[in-house]
Amino acid sequence: MGLGYVGCVSLACLAELGHEVVGVDRDEHKTSMIARGKSPFYEPGLDKLVSENVQKGRLRVSQLDEAILDQADIVLLCVGTPSQANGNIELEQLRRVCTEIAGKLKSRTKPLVVTVRSTVFPGTCEDLRSTIFAQHKGVEVASNPEFLREGTAVKDFMEPSLLVVGATSDDAAASVAGLYESLPIHGEIVSLRTAEMIKYACNAFHAVKIVFANEIGSLAANLGVCPEQVMATVCKDTKLNISPAYMKPGFAFGGSCLPKDLRALTYRASRLDMKLPMLESVLASNQEHLKRSIRAIVSMPAKKVGFYGLAFKEETDDLRESPVIEIIEYLIGKGRDARIFDPRIQINAIYGSNLNYVMSALPHIGKLMVQNCQELIDEADALIIAQKPSAEARAQLEASGLPMLDLTQLQMADA
Ligand code: NAD
Repeated sequence: MGLGYVGCVSLACLAELGHEVVGVDRDEHKTSMIARGKSPFYEPGLDKLVSENVQKGRLRVSQLDEAILDQADIVLLCVGTPSQANGNIELEQLRRVCTEIAGKLKSRTKPLVVTVRSTVFPGTCEDLRSTIFAQHKGVEVASNPEFLREGTAVKDFMEPSLLVVGATSDDAAASVAGLYESLPIHGEIVSLRTAEMIKYACNAFHAVKIVFANEIGSLAANLGVCPEQVMATVCKDTKLNISPAYMKPGFAFGGSCLPKDLRALTYRASRLDMKLPMLESVLASNQEHLKRSIRAIVSMPAKKVGFYGLAFKEETDDLRESPVIEIIEYLIGKGRDARIFDPRIQINAIYGSNLNYVMSALPHIGKLMVQNCQELIDEADALIIAQKPSAEARAQLEASGLPMLDLTQLQMADA
């Protein structure tokens, strides 16, 4: 349903994989072109696939009617979800197409998997099932977002970078993933909302990558440094740069390098009269993330808050620009008390810039530190995990029965 860039490419490629496919679009120009074996728009390789599969009888177009739906096991919804003036997505096409399908399911008894390929916000698919398809018990709803790029859409379909399926039942997810079983990819079966969110995460990430490369590249060029060589070399690091490292939602960053170097970069750019809005907003975004942690801690009804971890991450005693120190400074300013245990910090053993940093923020740090997890548990009303504990320490903290907030793992709101 919907034979635009996503729908028509999916139609032709699924036919090429051997499926029997029927395309429906309210735009007669598109359907009549496809019926004549032509792609309704330019996309490399698509004309050939449409023409060959129409000839082989695996691909046809039709009006939406009960007979067509009756033969279908899976319906793929590929209608547009454009922007509204306020930035929200417009779901009118999606709702209308679902209403049209629901109106033609009256006599159907077989199960049907209504699969949303369009980009939609988490919760949309559940909403369609509980509203438009509420009376149709045989209907399962799935999300199978499309990741193709215009200009290489056929190649992207046939050699996918990612295959994601979420559905209201395991069988429905398996049957949608089964459509692609001859492709060289293992499908990721996730929850329905996760599938919807992943598409936004991917597109936001791609946009961020482009802007990052352009901001670093522009600054490099302005400094007489070759932008291509910088970025190409950055990409050679597949341990820390192009890798899952740092891609784990958790606590704000800190430490002696990242904040300092971001400030230096953006300061130098401003001296060159360059605006780099993304790099300039990174510390502000990190600060906002820290404020979310502070709000969550403040909402805990604890007079004396126990912190596991003081350094900006585990396995270091470097306290410079540790976000935990900023949190504790704030809490003490608001009249709360704190106790701190960090397995790598003996306050008597730190010195130099490290000591200066912590003493200027928390002059009474010596009185706040305790020697082990048990002391922390004994002296606190609530526990904050501010860096990853060992399995043993985590078990001990959890066994305390005290209210606990783990800043290294973001808490999910009820869906
Ligand atoms: P499009 O506007 O090119 O195509 C949508 C099609 O749906 C149109 O042909 C329209 O006539 C048809 N349609 C609308 N209502 C209909 C109805 N009731 N019955 C039958 N047909 C109907 O959109 P697109 O670019 O293919 O994108 C579709 C979705 O996929 C969007 O959510 C988009 O965000 C997402 N997406 C797009 C791309 C891309 O590169 N274009 C890539 C991945 C995901």
